[in-house]
Amino acid sequence: MQLPSWFEFDLPHIGFERPRNFEWLTALAWIPCPGFPVPRSIKEILLPLFIQVGASDTLRADSLGFWRAGEDRFWLPRFVFQRTQTVKSRIKVGIFAGIHGDEPSGILGLIDFVRELDADPETGKEFQLWIYPLCNPSGFIDNTRHCRCGLDLNRRFWRDCQEPEIRLLEAEIRLQAFNGIISLHSDDTSDGMYGFVRGHTLTKHLMEPALAAAEAALPRNKRDLIDGFHAVEGIIHAGYGGILSSPPGVWPEPFQMVIETPQHAPTDLQRQAFVLALKSILRKYREFISYAADI
Ligand SMILES: [Zn+2]
Repeated sequence: MQLPSWFEFDLPHIGFERPRNFEWLTALAWIPCPGFPVPRSIKEILLPLFIQVGASDTLRADSLGFWRAGEDRFWLPRFVFQRTQTVKSRIKVGIFAGIHGDEPSGILGLIDFVRELDADPETGKEFQLWIYPLCNPSGFIDNTRHCRCGLDLNRRFWRDCQEPEIRLLEAEIRLQAFNGIISLHSDDTSDGMYGFVRGHTLTKHLMEPALAAAEAALPRNKRDLIDGFHAVEGIIHAGYGGILSSPPGVWPEPFQMVIETPQHAPTDLQRQAFVLALKSILRKYREFISYAADI
């Protein structure tokens, strides 16, 4: 069977216009469901999202860029959500998953989140969401934390690292000047949800309700020490250097959060927890903004 050219992800552009005759693809779609093994092909894991984009008025998709590692060719997918096409200022938030290739729950949770956004666009009202579900494609294929070059990408940001994933993401983060940056991770040493906050002072006021919302799916890690850091009610104010973040010295500082699920929990609960946390963050931030605007 001949695949349409955009399926090769030399991604032209899947814009807001709908590709014709894409319906047959739904018959082939792997819909990521609880209990199914995670597919280790980029096309396979993202296919549900591309199908969604094809039928959506609120989503578009493209790629940040391509590179080769040996015989393999990789690309960094990007999705953008905007509820309407009205031209106005919107809150720009970047959401990133899969920077550690062996943490598929964040990737799947973000895919779920995008599907829910499209089904209920009011959830993303006032926002323009830039979504990067697979930031370490070679690590994902290999099921490794590190990328194929052997680096932990999440320790290399803003440190003059020349790896293509870092260069593409750094350029994108600088260009987009996000109001908020959210990264999704899973921790195999934690038995509950927790998060790192940095940047804008209101970040902790977004994290607290996000963890509370996620408790409908998974408990919170309430230990005083998590991952070697002092924590209060699952919130850590410190963090590792070199993580995916805004450029050093940028002002105003965006809110910046890392949300961690317990990696040994059932995948479907981790996915639910991510969706609940992300929805809470959007709701709360919108509240803060409208409250500030009323003053
Ligand atoms: Zn991680």
